[in-house]
Amino acid sequence: MNAKELRRYFPILDQQVNGHPLVYLDSGATSQKPIQVIEAVDKYYREYNSNVHRGVHTLGTKATDAYEGAREKVRSFINARDTAEIIFTRGTTTAINTVVYGYARQILKPGDEIVTTVVEHHANFIPWQQAAKVTGATFKFIPLQEDGTVTLEAVKETVTANTKIVAIHHISNVLGDTTPIKEIAAIAHQHGAILLVDGAQSAPHKKVDMQDLDCDFYTFSAHKMCGPTGIGVLYGKRELLEKTEPVEFGGEMIDYVDLYESTWKELPWKFEGGTPIIAGAVGLGAAIDFLTEIGMEEIERNEKQLVRYAMEQMKEIEGLTIYGPQENRSSLITFNLDSVHPHDLATVLDSYGIAVRAGHHCAQPLMRWLKVSATARASFYLYNTEEDVDTLIAGLKKTKEYFGNVFS
Ligand SMILES: *Cc1c(COP(=O)(O)O)cnc(C)c1O
Repeated sequence: MNAKELRRYFPILDQQVNGHPLVYLDSGATSQKPIQVIEAVDKYYREYNSNVHRGVHTLGTKATDAYEGAREKVRSFINARDTAEIIFTRGTTTAINTVVYGYARQILKPGDEIVTTVVEHHANFIPWQQAAKVTGATFKFIPLQEDGTVTLEAVKETVTANTKIVAIHHISNVLGDTTPIKEIAAIAHQHGAILLVDGAQSAPHKKVDMQDLDCDFYTFSAHKMCGPTGIGVLYGKRELLEKTEPVEFGGEMIDYVDLYESTWKELPWKFEGGTPIIAGAVGLGAAIDFLTEIGMEEIERNEKQLVRYAMEQMKEIEGLTIYGPQENRSSLITFNLDSVHPHDLATVLDSYGIAVRAGHHCAQPLMRWLKVSATARASFYLYNTEEDVDTLIAGLKKTKEYFGNVFS
């Protein structure tokens, strides 16, 4: 199915914004939801809303089956070995913090190293920075190529016998580059370190296979892959999750509670304290069905082609700077236009119904590395068409004219 055919599943796209048909180019921040997902969540609330893992009554069993069924869908989607390795969290941010608090802060000592890059989203940056401060570990950065990409040589130079954790993006939400996770995992493992991957921008856009990539932890959010907000996934290898302490204590996650001691449920439930995000899991399961039916390879191929189509035309616009690699980009383009502030640019584009992101993209260290205070970003997903790109290009040209006239 091509983007034009897929659009009919996304009712939100069929509207006018500021008198123009909506062109939604901010899926990197959050994707839109197909009716399949909206209806699955609606059906849950209308027909079998109930708490999970406790009731013996019919609705409770249905809700539990749906919740645990979604876990199996996630397992299969990322090809993990076992559903015990799939933890439902609130999103990527919570998933990374679970590893930092439950694992990293328990094992790190002065002299140990955490290796990352300045490209990371704040969610994969600040938790490590703070863990380094508290434990006395060293916070180290892999040097980047001129276009912001990461080479294996640079990883090899940075990771040492003291490295305990490597934390890196799979696809950057600013540069759109893809890191060679499988090879980075091998380097980390040679040095006895573990690898955590921020998959917030890869799980929605390409096929990922945990057993092939061999990373130790992988994290992503449902809302960027056609699913609801409020739910995401922490994948971890079983032996590491066994060593990770729960970070939220309460109902649902316990085995036995005494006055001075308690024990926890087995994996994955020891990490899921409290009533979980049941409707969210149901929605995520429906999103996975939707994506799988289209095919992740197909989604990746179409998006890469669309990005190439957009890049070719954007490169023709004088004064427009594109950040990150010029080739082989994933589904987003980050740019600036002359000296127009990206917020002004995004405001003018919005007046034509075009939604792009402007700001630091939760990556302030990267903005400083790029020597800019902010950028604009157009990010694409399976429902974006070449017409959307044409509208963006026309919008950029009109913006350029507008500010050209204002300044002259
Ligand atoms: C969006 C994003 C995050 C954070 O995801 P949340 O859903 O806000 O927790 C982390 N890393 C990258 C690369 C992202 O794009």
